Amino acid sequence: MSRSQRCLVLGSINCDEVFHLPHTIRPGETLSSTGISRCPGGKGANQAYAVAMAGGGVDMHGCIGVDGVWLRDFLGKAQIGVEGIRTVENEVTGRAIILLADDGENSIGKSLVVHRLTTVLSSGANAQCASPSSLEGYSHALFQNEIPLSSTIACLHVAAPQHLVTVFNPSPVPAPEELRTFPWHCISWLIVNEGELFDLVSACAETNTPAYDGDGHSSILDLHHAEGFDDIGIICTQGARGILYFHPTLTAGKVLALPAAALEMALVDTTGAGDCFAGTFVAGLMRGEGLEDVLKVCLAACAACVEAPGAMASYASWEDIKRRSG
Ligand code: ADP
Repeated sequence: MSRSQRCLVLGSINCDEVFHLPHTIRPGETLSSTGISRCPGGKGANQAYAVAMAGGGVDMHGCIGVDGVWLRDFLGKAQIGVEGIRTVENEVTGRAIILLADDGENSIGKSLVVHRLTTVLSSGANAQCASPSSLEGYSHALFQNEIPLSSTIACLHVAAPQHLVTVFNPSPVPAPEELRTFPWHCISWLIVNEGELFDLVSACAETNTPAYDGDGHSSILDLHHAEGFDDIGIICTQGARGILYFHPTLTAGKVLALPAAALEMALVDTTGAGDCFAGTFVAGLMRGEGLEDVLKVCLAACAACVEAPGAMASYASWEDIKRRSG
C-alpha cells in the first residue's frame, strides 16, 4: 500500500543578521555597514522552505528561543507544518552573523555580485533540538548538521526500519571520528558540495588518491566503496559547474554529470544554493519522477536562487521553477 508523501525536516532554525559592507574588512578594522537586514535562516529551515516552494508537503521539527516566534510564523505562512517547532524557555534562537561585501563593479552600473565574507554561527536553541518520538505519516526525512548529531542519528534509527527515504546534507561537516562511526546504512541519499565530499572521502574511504582530484568522479566511487555506503545515492554539487550524481542502481553504478542551468539574469549571490538543491530534490523524489528529471528541476531552482540575494528570499515559486526547467 502506498503511503502519502510527506517530508520531515529535522534541523536548525536561525535568525540571520546580515551586514552589508562596502569592501572586504581587514583584521582589526572598524567598518560601518551600508545596510543591515534580518531574515529567516538556518539550513533546516532553508531546506524545508525549498521543499514547500517546490510543492512538497513538509513539516519542520526544530527549536527556537522566545525571540524566534516570528520565524515560526514565517515558516507557517509558507505552508510548512510548524507543530514540531518547540519554543525553549531561557534560550535564544540560533543566530548567524553574516558579513557580505558587494563587488567593486556595481558603482559603474555593472552587475552586482555579493561575496559572503564570513558567517558566525551561534547554535542557541538549536542545541536543544531532539528527534521526534514518532515518524508516523512521513515518507521522507531530510537532515543537515546544525543540530546535535546525536539527534539526527536517533531519528535515523527510527526512520530506517520504517523505510523512510532519508536524505542527509552533512553540513557543516562532522568531525572525522563522527563520520567514521555514523550509521551510513540508514541513509538513502547523500548531498554534498565539493569540500564536503573531500572531507567524507578523507575520513571514511580507503583511497589511492589522497589529494582531492578536483574532478570528483573517483572521490564519489571511493566513497561508494567505503564501509556502509554501498546502497547510498550520492550527489555532489559543484557550484557553477552543476552536479555529479551516482546511484548504485538508478545510474547503474556510474557517476554522471549535469551542467548548472543557464542563468536568465546576472549572478548575484550563491547563499543558500545548496539548501535550495536539497529541498527541491526531496520534493522531486516525493513527486515520483525519474532521477534525471528531478535533478534538472533542482538545477533550475538553484539557477533562480543565485540570481537573487539571500537564501529563502531567493527561492523561486514552483511556477517559475517549472517554467525554467521546461
Ligand atoms: P553549496 O551552497 O552547498 O556550496 P553549490 O555552491 O555547489 O552548493 O551550489 C548548488 C547548486 O547551485 C549548484 O549545483 C548549481 O546548480 C547552482 N549554482 C551555484 N553557484 C552557481 C553559479 N555561480 N552559477 C550557476 N549556478 C550556480
